[in-house]
Amino acid sequence: MTKNLERICNIIDQDRINIVSCLQELIRIKSVAGEPAEGMPFGMEVDRALRYCLQLSEQYGLVTRNIDGFGGHCELAGTQDEGRKGEIISTLVHVDVVEAGEGWTHNPFNAEIDNDSIFGRGAIDDKAAAIASIFALKAIRESRVQIRNRLRVIFGTDEETNWIGIKKYFSVEEQPTMGFTPDAVFPVVNKEKGIIDFALHFCYDKTKTAITNIQGGDGINKIPDSCEIRCLDGNCREVIMKATGKAAHISEPEKGKSAIDEAFMKIHPLLEKDDSLSPLVEFYTKYFICTKDGLKLNPKGSKNEMDKSTLCIGKISTKMFEASGQEISEVILEGSIRYPEPINPNKIISKLERRVTGIGGKLKLYEVMEPISMDEESFIIRQLLRSYTYITKDFHNKPIAIGGTTYAKSCRNIVAFGPAMPGKEYGAHMPEEHIHIDELMDTTKVIAAALYFLDSQDQTE
Ligand SMILES: [Zn+2]
Repeated sequence: MTKNLERICNIIDQDRINIVSCLQELIRIKSVAGEPAEGMPFGMEVDRALRYCLQLSEQYGLVTRNIDGFGGHCELAGTQDEGRKGEIISTLVHVDVVEAGEGWTHNPFNAEIDNDSIFGRGAIDDKAAAIASIFALKAIRESRVQIRNRLRVIFGTDEETNWIGIKKYFSVEEQPTMGFTPDAVFPVVNKEKGIIDFALHFCYDKTKTAITNIQGGDGINKIPDSCEIRCLDGNCREVIMKATGKAAHISEPEKGKSAIDEAFMKIHPLLEKDDSLSPLVEFYTKYFICTKDGLKLNPKGSKNEMDKSTLCIGKISTKMFEASGQEISEVILEGSIRYPEPINPNKIISKLERRVTGIGGKLKLYEVMEPISMDEESFIIRQLLRSYTYITKDFHNKPIAIGGTTYAKSCRNIVAFGPAMPGKEYGAHMPEEHIHIDELMDTTKVIAAALYFLDSQDQTE
């Protein structure tokens, strides 16, 4: 059996130059979500990236399918179960990327190689995984090692935004029996927190408040690093209050500092009791600030960071509109709760709803996703860990839990697995995103080994 894997890994080694240049080509496609067009639901560049992956796969003898630009896959069909189609074992990757942002010294879409690392947006998130998965399938095919099932790479197209593509894909294609998504970190992620994305709408009388405008943050996934509150002082002059914080991913509030929290703490002591925005400010300072440890929503606190619920507001804005001849003023807070197993999301939601309606506000749910928790002793986790240690010889790192979220939540029996090596920084969603070429090669081999082990169902070492 190890002979088979050796053969597969040798083919991958021979492909080194090819793997690097294909990843470079894919990075050079600026696949940030864009204006939809006919057959290109997420814009021209995302579509180019999808078609690039499918064409490359076809070139290597893999069967491909494009679901109208919403996603696609390439497949290598097993031969052993003649007359039967076999189960689908799949990797799930995505070809879209987030904006480059500021602060790069390398051109984010030029895929320059510097010190044996490839630099560019998508280098680690998630284009390396896409290329590695294609070359893993190519190597398995060329090795002529016998496989039983259908091995598949599924290409998602809007993982960084709304997951419409992957939902559409699974509405047309059957779900894999099992697999993994190389869109996080090795050795393997067996737990992901659940998500409750929500908005709080609060209407107020604009003639009865000193606040004229509040704007802060720019999205639900980020700890806001700036917030501005405009209000009138005793002489009816407008005063601008600015607060700054530190951005971080919404699932890791301990790494950032919310500017909206800061702004509300500043404004709280200044507001008169009968100010029409006072109930909201009161509510915010009571329930939404310092909820890094989740204690205010979930009384069962824990010492372990990963067992804690978090609640963070990512964005605040004010809006004026007309409804049945009346002018309405509204504050909208958008935020995300991340909660671990075994907390029941309905309990959190009803608690939050009760409190929000208590101040005359309205709760709107955007998205609720269940947490993932797979036993460390399950077949999938053991085979994935085995593949990782087989290639990297790292026996030290253990399965981990994350507060972030991956395509693992898009279908059952999927967990996040790689491509980042544990404890290393690659600059995903930040400037100077990169991957070392040796690690790209290792990732390709680990993915091939994982597909091979999951297919063989062989549980012996
Ligand atoms: Zn990603």
